[in-house]
Amino acid sequence: MESRASDPPSPTSPSPSRSSSPPRIRRLEASVVNRIAAGEVIQRPSAAVKELVENSLDAASTSVSVSVKDGGLKLLLVSDDGHGIRHEDLPILCERHTTSKLSKYEDLQTIKSMGFRGEALASMTYVGHVTVTTITEGQLHGYRVSYRDGVMEHEPKPCAAVKGTQIMVENLFYNMAARRKTLQNSNDDYPKIVDLISRFAVHYMNVNFSCRKYGSNRADVHTVGGSSRLDAIRTVYGASVARDLMEISVSDDNPTRLIFKMEGFISNSNYLAKKTTMILFINDRLVDCTALKRAVELVYSATLPKASKPFIYMSINLPSDHVDVNIHPTKREVSLLNQDSLIDTIQSAIEAKLMSSNSTRIFQTQVVSSSLPTTQISTRKDKEHSIANSGVQSQKIPVNQMVRTDSRDPFGRLHSYWKDGSQSSKQEKKSDLASMRSVVVARRNWKENTDFTSLDQLVREIDSNVHPGLLDIVKDCTYIGLADEVFAVLQYNTYLYLVNVVNVSKELMYQQVLRRFSKFNAIQLSEPAPLQDLLLMALRDEELETRGDETETNDDLKEKIALMNIELLKEKEDMLEDYFGIKMEDGSLIRLPVVLDQYIPDMDRIPEFLLSLANDVDWDDERECFQTVSAVLANFYAMHPPILPNPSGDGIRYYRKNREEVGLEAEILVDKSDEEQVDEELVAEAETAWSQREWNIQHVLFPSMRLFLKPPKCMATDGTFVQVASLEKLYRVFERC
Ligand code: ADP
Ligand code: MG
Repeated sequence: MESRASDPPSPTSPSPSRSSSPPRIRRLEASVVNRIAAGEVIQRPSAAVKELVENSLDAASTSVSVSVKDGGLKLLLVSDDGHGIRHEDLPILCERHTTSKLSKYEDLQTIKSMGFRGEALASMTYVGHVTVTTITEGQLHGYRVSYRDGVMEHEPKPCAAVKGTQIMVENLFYNMAARRKTLQNSNDDYPKIVDLISRFAVHYMNVNFSCRKYGSNRADVHTVGGSSRLDAIRTVYGASVARDLMEISVSDDNPTRLIFKMEGFISNSNYLAKKTTMILFINDRLVDCTALKRAVELVYSATLPKASKPFIYMSINLPSDHVDVNIHPTKREVSLLNQDSLIDTIQSAIEAKLMSSNSTRIFQTQVVSSSLPTTQISTRKDKEHSIANSGVQSQKIPVNQMVRTDSRDPFGRLHSYWKDGSQSSKQEKKSDLASMRSVVVARRNWKENTDFTSLDQLVREIDSNVHPGLLDIVKDCTYIGLADEVFAVLQYNTYLYLVNVVNVSKELMYQQVLRRFSKFNAIQLSEPAPLQDLLLMALRDEELETRGDETETNDDLKEKIALMNIELLKEKEDMLEDYFGIKMEDGSLIRLPVVLDQYIPDMDRIPEFLLSLANDVDWDDERECFQTVSAVLANFYAMHPPILPNPSGDGIRYYRKNREEVGLEAEILVDKSDEEQVDEELVAEAETAWSQREWNIQHVLFPSMRLFLKPPKCMATDGTFVQVASLEKLYRVFERC
């Protein structure tokens, strides 16, 4: 079953021996290369808007307005009142690698502007029609000029203009049929654009921003510069959000460790949301830092009783040589020097803030060590008695296991204690903080208590089977990229490793299932999925794989097998729901567990999963049962290659409509005529699946792996981790050349 995903669907495979002579290698035309590169920089309309707005901000604008038609595919219009573009620069404005912001490599160390690659505008001209209208100070009139494929279509024409620059991008991706299709199918990009402008508006509070649909007189974001940060947040995200925010700041100026300053606003315990909003600016650049986001979420989930995700606005300033802005072609994900200690410091600051802030809040969480039962910590600083506490606390902890720790009451009492704010000294706060810190750390290590010794055993087995060397690698590695469908390249110190993402993700999911045992959040299916159909589907697939073209088992028999499986699953229904969050009802699958936050498994694998659940689980022995169900879930959630073959490169041939008629000539990719003959809808679907997976590997798997994975010893020898090169040795080799 494992190999199915990477195998092409057999009925459509063309024969491999099409021709005995190797195909000619040709140089791609420059315009094709540029179009491919442009498609990487500008992945979707919102990415174009980000580049344009950053250019406006780099041009010292105080007002930036954005108009969008058809989710940006028809029209993007960004106008600013910045310093404009010189007339003499217009001819090279949209050539690749033309920038006013950087001239030599060393400038990168000190760069303050957001752009510097000179790639954004050029890219847009390869995948859309760009028209620039601009006027510089002291000029009587402005100029308007259109660009295509990096060059001006005509001499700049004089025109009337108001201060600044207006850039219009029309028909984005007009020459990338599959991309256009994907974007048309997927949700309109407009909400992403609104979200983007909202973030800029919060950070650049002295700039007026507006964002609207083209032709509409109502702006969806509209801010007036010059307000306070909190006002800006209120204007953009609403009063209800602003009300539940607390200001936070922390800094460290110890040059031996790290120098940084963080300021921001974070939500308090009254804030309720299903999704985290994290607005992060590092050195005034809007970025993502998945590791930081997860670390913050962890503090919230470990510290607050409510299952709410936080709202975070955070602005971090670091010496610019501590940020590698170059890591990503779109400059979106950054990597930081001393990232771990920075994250630790920020975690502690948020933790302390959450604890000291609200006077009526209850902190409750579970600490576990193998010998100690669950510990409850509650803190109240108001004078009100905390009768309500017990109601808030999780019902899952047996009362006789509740112990409260308090520096003044070391023995623990079975009733809630409360503290008077006026009496609580700094010392006490500190000891609370210390205990809370150990709670968070314990949560991070996920040694949670449960009633099942067999589960404890399984969790302990993971701990005792860790390979310390691999653990170091996992904790401190840098993700480089995918090497092929199964292996990713990562760097650790001066070594490069290949790591099998299917294996590590499977192991990670397995460990997560055991850690979240009986405490899963739910993924609700949009409609109940009938087990009968799914099992039949899986049985047919299985037959195709094992028997090829031989005579089929008759459908009656398959139906009987399916019914028996359903019967069996029905018997185990309650257990599967309570312990593993797999909910089935009336012969349908209703809900699946969240094994890793923000990750949804490949739904194409549900049939295989159900079949495996019914057949590969040992139901007799408790320990075996927990282990096998976890393994089956892990296999389902693992990041296998998508079932549709990868349409990029060679894989495109599986999507040809008239494969027999297409001659050898047409095998060379990225030919316009070629694009028209493939099943575009399917290609688009496959492209989405593959890019989604790649994104998940980089932004979900690796960050979670750093936090949670305990790599077992066998991974050092079974080909999961393979050291491929030592950079030192490589350098030495190069030196000799
Ligand atoms: P980069 O921002 O990396 O320099 P871009 O392709 O985004 O590259 O822009 C190229 C150049 O065009 C910039 O360096 C800048 O000089 C100029 N430019 C682009 N947009 C504007 C604008 N809105 N106002 C003034 N100058 C601009
Ligand atoms: Mg730019």
